[in-house]
Amino acid sequence: MHDVIVVGAGAAGLFFAGSLPPGRFRVLLLDHSAKLAEKVRISGGGRCNITNLEAGRLERYLGREPRFARQALAGFGPEAFLSAFRRDGLSVHEKHRGQLFCDQGSNAVIRWLDARAQAAGAKRLMSTRVHAVRHATAETGFILESDAGSLSCRMLVIASGGPSIPAIGASDWGQVLARSMGLAVVPPRPALVPLIVQTPWTSEASLAGVSMPVRVSLSGQSHAPAFDEDLLFTHRGLSGPAILQLSSYWSEDQAIDVRWAPASLAADFAEDWVKRKALVAFNPERMLNGSDPALAMPKRFLQQRFGPSGARLPDLSAPIQQWPDRAIRRLGEVLLRDRLQPSGTEGWKKAEVAAGGVEVRELDPRSMQSFKHPGMFFIGEVVDVTGWLGGYNFQWAWSSAWSAARAISVILEGYLK
Ligand SMILES: Cc1cc2nc3c(=O)[nH]c(=O)nc-3n(C[C@H](O)[C@H](O)[C@H](O)COP(=O)(O)OP(=O)(O)OC[C@H]3O[C@@H](n4cnc5c(N)ncnc54)[C@H](O)[C@@H]3O)c2cc1C
Repeated sequence: MHDVIVVGAGAAGLFFAGSLPPGRFRVLLLDHSAKLAEKVRISGGGRCNITNLEAGRLERYLGREPRFARQALAGFGPEAFLSAFRRDGLSVHEKHRGQLFCDQGSNAVIRWLDARAQAAGAKRLMSTRVHAVRHATAETGFILESDAGSLSCRMLVIASGGPSIPAIGASDWGQVLARSMGLAVVPPRPALVPLIVQTPWTSEASLAGVSMPVRVSLSGQSHAPAFDEDLLFTHRGLSGPAILQLSSYWSEDQAIDVRWAPASLAADFAEDWVKRKALVAFNPERMLNGSDPALAMPKRFLQQRFGPSGARLPDLSAPIQQWPDRAIRRLGEVLLRDRLQPSGTEGWKKAEVAAGGVEVRELDPRSMQSFKHPGMFFIGEVVDVTGWLGGYNFQWAWSSAWSAARAISVILEGYLK
């Protein structure tokens, strides 16, 4: 019998195994994929945004009860993770808003995670499917029917992640298993995902690839955060950090508000233009596109948004004197709060994470152990805790894995005595 079997040798599973005391327990990692930790490899564009300096902030996590994450994040937060990481000779650089990327790239992170797990004495079986899991008795623990035959363990750790990017072996297996064992599960949905928006002016392929800083929020939802980040036009809609962040809060039929104008354009700029138009000669296009360098909105965007298929306004390059006051005010409305209606998300193929998962009320926040099935633990993305873009999801994987490793070590030491 194994002391611990971990299903899923990804970020959380590997970090869990490497956080156990070296050589103390018989640990087996099982993964159905042939390749190790593919999501770590593709993360952060191959650079792996491993954590965030602000990853201890609970308001940056979503789920039915984000406060559940408090103990795990406090017990093993970004500082603790970084000191383990640096101790082994790896280093990080900060890119943007506390986002820490590995200087050596994501393959180095995988080698590090694997080396830690091996140093702890964990064995690993790849390309191995688990067909069934049974909770036998407290003495016999759990029995797994797998490609490697019937396996038993005292402690079972489910670290199988979420279903985003199925092409690299991602699945909702852990969530389905939890439900089959009587645990409540929030149905997984794509998060940190591009949104499909098809309006006459956005569907023009000429906008694809244009990126600009914006502020986005959910229309009429003051409790959800607004994001000041870059927005990227795609062939089918919108992406970029601003939209990925907002997508985690978005639900079907929800409209979104976009402030296209940079913060340097005062909220009452239209009224100001109405007053000044008799005194100063300028045209809106040149003003917005860069005669004031603090504005510099992309010309392609201005041409599409205010072109024949966009807002019905005078020619943007016409002198402001030719603009009726009403049209100037409408220009202000569109630039300051444009309402768009996404028709959906780009789905699991493009989502960076799954929101939803095993309901946290089923788990002990100190250990990630199931109340209904003592000895069974859920860590990482399979749990209903989802972080913002920017290293928060890996930090959740590290923190939840560490909590489970600490708790399991204590329980197993009890068996060994
Ligand atoms: C494109 C992309 C970029 C990302 N970039 C970042 C980033 O820079 N920073 C960040 O914080 N987060 C990032 N994420 C999110 C992050 O990768 C995940 O949140 C994190 O990997 C979750 O860790 P996990 O161990 O729970 O799941 P995973 O790392 O996905 O590991 C799950 C493992 O379980 C295995 N598995 C699944 N089903 C089964 C089964 N039935 N039987 C056996 N094994 C199974 C899988 O093969 C996999 O190895 C990114 C995600 C994507 C898709």
